Amino acid sequence: MDYRRTYVRDLFKLAPRTQTSAYGWVKTRRDSKGISFVQLSDGSCFKDLQVVVNEGVLSADVLRQITTGACVRFDGEIVESPAAGQAVELLATGAEIYGAADPEKYPLQKKGATMEFLREISHLRVRGNTFGAVFRVRAQAAFAIHKFFYDRGFHYIHTPIITASDCEGAGAMFAVSTALESAGHENPAYQLKTKDPAEDFFGKPAFLTVSGQLEGETMALGLTNIYTFGPTFRAENSSTSRHLAEFWMVEPEMAFCDLEGNMNCAEEFLKEVIGHILENSAADLEFFNQRIEPELLKTLNHVVESPFERLTYTEAIKMLEGSGETFEYPVFWGADLQSEHERWLTEVKVGRPVILTDYPKEIKAFYMRENEDGKTVRAMDVLAPRIGEIIGGSQREERLDVLERKIQEFGLPLEPYWWYLDLRRYGSAPHAGFGLGFERLLMYVTGMKNIRDVIPYHRTPGNAEF
Ligand code: ATP
Ligand code: MN
Repeated sequence: MDYRRTYVRDLFKLAPRTQTSAYGWVKTRRDSKGISFVQLSDGSCFKDLQVVVNEGVLSADVLRQITTGACVRFDGEIVESPAAGQAVELLATGAEIYGAADPEKYPLQKKGATMEFLREISHLRVRGNTFGAVFRVRAQAAFAIHKFFYDRGFHYIHTPIITASDCEGAGAMFAVSTALESAGHENPAYQLKTKDPAEDFFGKPAFLTVSGQLEGETMALGLTNIYTFGPTFRAENSSTSRHLAEFWMVEPEMAFCDLEGNMNCAEEFLKEVIGHILENSAADLEFFNQRIEPELLKTLNHVVESPFERLTYTEAIKMLEGSGETFEYPVFWGADLQSEHERWLTEVKVGRPVILTDYPKEIKAFYMRENEDGKTVRAMDVLAPRIGEIIGGSQREERLDVLERKIQEFGLPLEPYWWYLDLRRYGSAPHAGFGLGFERLLMYVTGMKNIRDVIPYHRTPGNAEF
């Protein structure tokens, strides 16, 4: 058995009468007049292979084990299929059972299983239509992202997962320690060692990163255009359908680039990545469009084709104030926009993706470049129909004196940022970048309604199973 064997997706391209083998898991089996029809999937494409087993071809013992969930190799001949929706099928001449699956116990055969139930069997759900499609699209999207940056000369950077700096001055970080109170666990990481951070593993408090941006900036001011694509962690104790405790983030950072260039990059990025997925995952997206989100293909094509509208935060607030809508959260200059406001702007008012810029400095991070008005910063959020904010970014503050003042205004200590400030001390440059939550993008391109269903194993409050 070699890994270079034929995938199911390649079998569909074979000429009739070719002898071949098909490896996979049985989705369903239907018997009719002495013939068995088996739907076989190996996850290589959306479509299952139909295998036809005529009476007497397989021993009774082998045939008995061909049930939903079983892993089987069928040997046989490619034949033209009389059935609709498929050009060819496999006429079996033999089969080997690799692993049977007791039909009384196999958890994935329940018809109409809910997303919640499937989440409890996350280790098996990938064998079904929906999650096979989700994880093929996830892999395709990751490739499209790397390709977008590779084609433009960006360098892929790995920033630390364990960090002693808190990127935004916000809380909600996971501590990393070998000096915790004993909780009666055998695991040495849980044994009580010390309560003094100086005696802890890193000699100071350490955390799982919430963003690779600050380290990304240091790399951009040397390599010019870089991006990170890795896991980030937030200990937000909120169980929403849009938040994970562990999620993947894409963060490009560009030297010699201002907010204008940043907007151009973000717009091109979304168009190209979504365009790549539309082109290369067509069968999977067709399924999502039919079964998960009826507006899916329409809105994705729309994002690829239409120029994004660009507005300032102040203009957007005026539009919202004049909208005549009653929102749950009040709108006023200085307010943080909620997803209801973002969706109204992009879906109702503009009808296209919108990039909002120049937010009040109080509601954005300290590192965003201050405008001449002293009130707003060079921030940008990309809002998309159906989801609201999908990308957040900014031109960074490159002036040492302003940055030092901003860190203090935000009540943060200067000392831990010595290396970040060094960038402004030695060879500072205008630079900009943005962050995209990878699972938010996947929710957008698949139409899946819960972020827990676009990552293989979700980490959320109360859950770290698998
Ligand atoms: P939100 O308001 O939705 O919590 P945020 O303002 O905290 O987002 P940023 O700090 O700007 O988000 O993070 C950059 C991107 O990371 C966001 O645009 C979003 O796509 C994604 N993101 C943020 N928090 C989470 C999370 N808990 N789970 C998954 N993705 C997230
Ligand atoms: Mn948040």
